[in-house]
Amino acid sequence: MKRAAKLLGVGLIFMLLLSSIAMAQPQSIPNGPYVEREQNVSFSSFMTNEELADTLKKIEASSKGKMELEVVGYSNAINGDLMEEEGFPLYVAKFGGADDPNKKRVLITTQIHGNEPLGTEAMVELMKQFAGSGKEFNEILDNVTVWFMPRINPDGAMNEVEGKWSPQRRTHQLWDPEFLGLPAGTEAPWYYRDREKGYDENRDYNPNLDFRPEDFITEADTEGMTLEQVLNNGDRNNSDFGGFYVTPESRIVTKVFKELDPDVYFDIHHRGFNTVSEEDIRSVPIQIAAVVADPYTDPFTGNEYEVDDSVLKLGKQINVVGYQAIQRGFSHYGAIQKYPDVNLPGTSLGAFALNDTAIMLIEIKGQSGSLGQKQNGMLKQTAKVPVYEILKSLADGSVSDVDESLYDDIPESSNRMRDPSTME
Ligand SMILES: [Zn+2]
Repeated sequence: MKRAAKLLGVGLIFMLLLSSIAMAQPQSIPNGPYVEREQNVSFSSFMTNEELADTLKKIEASSKGKMELEVVGYSNAINGDLMEEEGFPLYVAKFGGADDPNKKRVLITTQIHGNEPLGTEAMVELMKQFAGSGKEFNEILDNVTVWFMPRINPDGAMNEVEGKWSPQRRTHQLWDPEFLGLPAGTEAPWYYRDREKGYDENRDYNPNLDFRPEDFITEADTEGMTLEQVLNNGDRNNSDFGGFYVTPESRIVTKVFKELDPDVYFDIHHRGFNTVSEEDIRSVPIQIAAVVADPYTDPFTGNEYEVDDSVLKLGKQINVVGYQAIQRGFSHYGAIQKYPDVNLPGTSLGAFALNDTAIMLIEIKGQSGSLGQKQNGMLKQTAKVPVYEILKSLADGSVSDVDESLYDDIPESSNRMRDPSTME
């Protein structure tokens, strides 16, 4: 009996060993926790629009005058000054004025895609810190003006499906060519989806920041094609070209951009899942980019836009500062990649970069529908720490000593993984 028990014991240990070897090959490190299939994704830790508004008002009240909160438009106020009270308000939280020539100016937007919430949560935490009395935060504000626009797609953020909160990428507006003065039946911009009843706001911007559809209706309005010709022409109605400023949201953000005329602009998103490489299976927490648009010729006016060398240099420098800020030995925390090469003049980042603003794209891994609120704490840090360190380097001037060529050493995007939550 004893001997049999001993053999059984050895066998068990052997089996355990085998199974642990089989399990020692995770898809990534960390490997989850992911939302299980069929498991209800919980959004309970994310703020609703009302909760966000309440939180912003509280931060303003506690800031001793450091933060000024303004409503700058409404998500369905398409006319005039964008201030008709239709839909949800869009806010700007201003730390400092636009008028001090000795300060660097920074604009930060989040959640241009309604289903990408963590940038909002992360920046609200940062706002609380700036509103507090920490010396290091006050020193930054002595030298840098920072304006936050959290959740610039409030409709998509609060989207519901069959009465259930289900954030979506797109805004909420219907394509209505006649409203814009176009013939009925004119094709919608390529970034409109009937199913979601809205636009991808992040393709609706245009390097011509003053673009308005009504200015390009007739041949006499334009150097090239009319708006109807462009929309009905697949070669021109696509992502190689700027958007048409048909959403109130993109107009509102652009209004704020023009008011601040920032040196630096951040936009915070979410994306898919990657590992660093075949060998290095650390899960990539964020991808970043300093360049998202090529030189651009406006098909309506013939005007040309390109990113100035000095602007491009600053963009690369801030991306390098952000990259270096979250290196922690060989932890997954610092396993950052560059966002894939793109040319998207219709994005806010692309349009603003082509108007002399250095940019940083931050893409946090996972979408709210797949990741739910798992890993939120860590992922918020991966957005917050780079932004904080960049603001600090702008404040103390150290950013200008950064070697921008280090940007080229940031690993390229690779090894995209399938969404682990939907894998069979
Ligand atoms: Zn996005």
